Amino acid sequence: MLDYKTHCVTKEISRPDKRILLSYPHMSGDELNFIKEAFDSNWIAPLGPHVDAFEKETAEYTGVKAALALSCGSAAIHLGLRLLDVKAGDVVFCSTLTFIASVAPAVYQKATPVFIDSDEDTWNMSPVALQKAFDDAVKTGKMPKCVIVAELYGQPPKMDEICAICNRYGVPILEDAAEALGASYYGKMCGSFGKVGIYSYNGNKIITTSGGGMLLSDDEEYIQKARFWATQARDSAPWYEHTEIGYNYRMSNLLAAVGRGQMLHLEERIARRREIYATYKKELSDTHGISFMPEAPKCHSIQWLTAITVAPSTGKNFMDIINYMNQQNIECRPVWKPMHLQPYFAGSKYFTHDEGENGSVSDNLFNTGICLPSASAMTEEEQDWVIKSLKECLSK
Ligand SMILES: *Cc1c(COP(=O)(O)O)cnc(C)c1O
Repeated sequence: MLDYKTHCVTKEISRPDKRILLSYPHMSGDELNFIKEAFDSNWIAPLGPHVDAFEKETAEYTGVKAALALSCGSAAIHLGLRLLDVKAGDVVFCSTLTFIASVAPAVYQKATPVFIDSDEDTWNMSPVALQKAFDDAVKTGKMPKCVIVAELYGQPPKMDEICAICNRYGVPILEDAAEALGASYYGKMCGSFGKVGIYSYNGNKIITTSGGGMLLSDDEEYIQKARFWATQARDSAPWYEHTEIGYNYRMSNLLAAVGRGQMLHLEERIARRREIYATYKKELSDTHGISFMPEAPKCHSIQWLTAITVAPSTGKNFMDIINYMNQQNIECRPVWKPMHLQPYFAGSKYFTHDEGENGSVSDNLFNTGICLPSASAMTEEEQDWVIKSLKECLSK
């Protein structure tokens, strides 16, 4: 269409028939070749050559010595906590602004989570709040067994500061890189910072096996031990012999086949998600009241989800916007509700980034934050519709 005033060709932006979802699987077709191979060889089991290869390829990609493919990311966190000897009565420090799966496995182990606020630069664990929690632990004599550091929406935290603090107290990190496969910090891959790290291949993640997870470590004995627990803790004996209790947590060879096909396209998927973020930023940065989750210096985010905050001065809260977008056939979601605000964790200890009334950064992010559709398979036309709808909503 020609705009008579500017003599520019303007784009016709129309409502798509299909609902625009937040994040969904993006298959390449290559997965089918790997699945066919699994069928032809009849390796239809929670182990097999694709599982071995997927583990090896992922360990190489991340730059760690060993990896273990599992049924989900939650299982990987659970095994990771057990490796770090987290058990009943122990304290675990956790990022508060994250999905429940970061923390639930600590509850499986009957440990007590203590929650750590975010900082504004990364939206991830604040080194300032973490230091406060350690100061308190020293005072009360109850040191944490480990620190679970989540990597929100594909972005690394300030890992140099967090690692320095944890090293000072000799406390290991469990790095929850479920949302951050392919992200890096000063060139080092997310998933390789902790004593153990994890990825998730749930259907909404950057790549998917429909459901799945990976446990990573430079300590090969750790991975061997976790493999033992993940396979029902079967001792080596001619019969079924058990000196410990394990789990049925391993990944199927069929799903590992999907994962290998997905891995071939990971870099393209990351590039596309970053492009989607850049487009939102270009088109919406001038809109009053909108700010973007920042990409901190040296933090190479995969931009799994583009997240924004909408200032109260717009007169709109996050539910007004989500409901409006919903009417336009667009799925937006609130930012994760912080763990310290969850009814289940009422009364838990929580350390904020700042003091005073507005001290909790994560509370503010939850109260103003929205995740925008970010799927790598989303078309330009669909994204145009999201941008137009959001501008419309805020101008009403
Ligand atoms: C997706 C996710 C997990 C793991 O989820 P699974 O569905 O068990 O694979 C863990 N932590 C975070 C932050 C996640 O987003």
